[in-house]
Amino acid sequence: MKKKTMNRRDFIKTSSMVGMGAAVGLSHIPYSLQSQNRQSAILGGRPSFGGFWPGWPVIGALEEQELLKVLHSGQWCRLGSKTTPRFEEEFRGMTGSGYALATSSGTTALSTMLGALDIGPGDEVILPPYTFIATYNVIVQNYALPIFVDIDIKSFQIDAAKIEAAITPHTRALMPVHIGGSPFDVDAVMKIAAKYNLPVIEDACQAHFAEWKGKSVGNFGVGGAFSFQASKNLNSGEGGAIITNNEDFYKKCYSFHHQGQGSDSASLVPGSGTRGSNFRLTEFQAGILLAQMTRIPEQIKKRFENAQYLTEMLSEIPGITPAKLYEGVTRSAYHLYMFRYDKQQFAGMDRSKFIGALNAEGVPCSPGYVSLIKDAYVRNLAQNKHYLKIYGEKRMKLWLDQLSCPANDRLCGEEAVWLTQTMLLGSKSDMEMIAKGIRKISREAKAISKL
Ligand SMILES: *Cc1c(COP(=O)(O)O)cnc(C)c1O
Repeated sequence: MKKKTMNRRDFIKTSSMVGMGAAVGLSHIPYSLQSQNRQSAILGGRPSFGGFWPGWPVIGALEEQELLKVLHSGQWCRLGSKTTPRFEEEFRGMTGSGYALATSSGTTALSTMLGALDIGPGDEVILPPYTFIATYNVIVQNYALPIFVDIDIKSFQIDAAKIEAAITPHTRALMPVHIGGSPFDVDAVMKIAAKYNLPVIEDACQAHFAEWKGKSVGNFGVGGAFSFQASKNLNSGEGGAIITNNEDFYKKCYSFHHQGQGSDSASLVPGSGTRGSNFRLTEFQAGILLAQMTRIPEQIKKRFENAQYLTEMLSEIPGITPAKLYEGVTRSAYHLYMFRYDKQQFAGMDRSKFIGALNAEGVPCSPGYVSLIKDAYVRNLAQNKHYLKIYGEKRMKLWLDQLSCPANDRLCGEEAVWLTQTMLLGSKSDMEMIAKGIRKISREAKAISKL
């Protein structure tokens, strides 16, 4: 079975080298097979990829061992135990940060940092609209006002040049996101933050071990949040972590995530904004994470290499533009492989049809996020009774009227296409099959768009 696939791939490779002049050197292959291979799957041809994409999560004996160790120890909570602190030390070391604190999720990592900064009603927090809803939710949980700054359509990241105009006397923090696992323009964001003396909370929930100028993301702001939810590049089902280089901030975060208490006793620790919660990681999760961490260096390398190879190939297809990495990016975590699709170059075929055709090629892909600022879930904040009480009707109407991010809406509505991180754990030839599928659709766009 495997051998057969290889042969077919070799054939596909050969035919693509020969190009459109298929008659040359291919006469020994029956014509029906030739046309099947060249035709896109949605038109009845054979899919470009007929194998299996790598499964997720990756599980081995080590996960079992670590999990059973925790189970039999009877110590299932981090308090007075060892597994979570061991994971924190590993994670701290691998990110090259001063302190690491494990939390119950990426969302609670962000909440903990907002709590440690004592963000609350009347405060404004800046975020990009091109993100997972959690970035927004943690701001609203604190009754602070989320202020959206549009994205740079080339990179999919927050447009640093637009942040300054969104800052008001009420701005209390910037919460940019390393979306897709690729760093935002760290230098540009940090420059604005310094000018206005604003703390930066890095939402690095998709960006484990991504690097800006050789340094792990999460190390640039006052702190960075990571997620270990099942879909993320580091996975314990649920889970999260904060990294920081500020001891005082670390202590405040610890206190906040542990009901306002310090680490060595149940004494209440002042300075945490007089609020707290229970956002602790369990020892089971820490055990799984310790095992998963041993696989991470190889996975990081593979995703990055495969993504770069894919970018090389896709950049040559008219109408396909991979998300740009800023010059300071020395490594993307590639939680998502994101590119822009220009239907004009595909005979006007709209994105959903392109995605259907690519799925038919055996290449799973999706249009990604819907626009947050167009969603009723977000827009209804203007009618929320607590927000009306805190900010007044006039302010909330203005907030609603100012929800405008055209670049984001273009990405969400028409252009973005995503491949997932697990596909990037495939082989080099798997990457070639992705490009192959898109090239086929490109060649036959006219016929497909008529379907
Ligand atoms: C996953 C994610 C979160 C939330 O993490 P959870 O662990 O699911 O709570 C926050 N922000 C972004 C950008 C994410 O992708």
